Amino acid sequence: MSNSNDQARILIQLDPDKHPSVFDRVVAVDAGVDHLFSYGNVTPDDVQALVHGAIFTRGPEALRNTAVFIGGSSMEQGEALLEAVKSSFFGPFRVSVMLDPNGSNTTAAAAVLRVLEGMNGKIQGEDAAVLAATGPVGRRVAMLLAHLGARVRVGSRQFSKSAALAESLAESTGKVFLPFETSSDEALTEGLDGTEIIVSAGAAGITLLPFRVLEKRTSLRVAIDLNAVDPSGIEGVKPHDKKAQKDGYLAWGALGVGSLKMKIHKAGVAQLFETNDKIIDALQAFELGQKLG
Ligand code: NAP
Repeated sequence: MSNSNDQARILIQLDPDKHPSVFDRVVAVDAGVDHLFSYGNVTPDDVQALVHGAIFTRGPEALRNTAVFIGGSSMEQGEALLEAVKSSFFGPFRVSVMLDPNGSNTTAAAAVLRVLEGMNGKIQGEDAAVLAATGPVGRRVAMLLAHLGARVRVGSRQFSKSAALAESLAESTGKVFLPFETSSDEALTEGLDGTEIIVSAGAAGITLLPFRVLEKRTSLRVAIDLNAVDPSGIEGVKPHDKKAQKDGYLAWGALGVGSLKMKIHKAGVAQLFETNDKIIDALQAFELGQKLG
């Protein structure tokens, strides 16, 4: 019993994957949850019954002690579960919800906070490029950078994928995104021309930006590589780099960003139990990170 009203904190983990994420379970325990109810293979059709079990068992005042966490490895599936959860609420019968498939929101929030740090807090009007922006992490990084006023380019190995992503992001945010291709040195050089900020959000163990292209980036001020698995996503940026001074720019590697990501994730779960009406998505994770420093 560790919260107001002497009721245990219950976190209901909804995961579209077969096995509810162990990572998310460990963080929930470390964030002070008393009981964790974990469900795998969850589809939007399953959600209403699960949510009703959560909202009809405790009085409205005590519902702050129950919350939902949506994880899994797919942002699309996670977003569909979030919509189903929100549609199952009515009036005061609701609980707080956090969305973080594959750590995408908390990782993107931490990465963008490091970008801001490296840019002395000013990215309005600056040119930023996200490599492998098509993944759940990259997509959220691009969205947050645009929210802060940067001019964002989104990269993919296939131009058609980056163009589709740019369109979808524009639709959901009302901002403009410029697609570019990353499949050859020539395309990458052209796509990164004049960028002050590069965030690499590619799959683990894949180099997306080789040194021979990186060394020509004279405008670069901040580089963030979110891949922790050797070889680096940005050649020359190491996983432990944390505001490391490179040749003309500051760099953070995956582990250099990861400690803030973990703080945001834990604080997000803890915050769910403050009231019963919070929705913690990318922007809220970013705002939480701003307070954590
Ligand atoms: P993801 O979905 O696995 O991959 C992102 C993108 O990488 C894909 O959309 C794809 O883009 C590209 N890609 C995939 N396979 C590739 C290959 N063989 N060669 C080149 N490109 C390839 O990644 P994610 O879940 O968004 O995560 C992004 C990165 O963040 C990962 O490295 C992950 O480990 C890391 N991460 C770090 C933290 C942290 O705290 N530091 C936390 C979570 C995740 P295209 O097909 O469009 O090119």
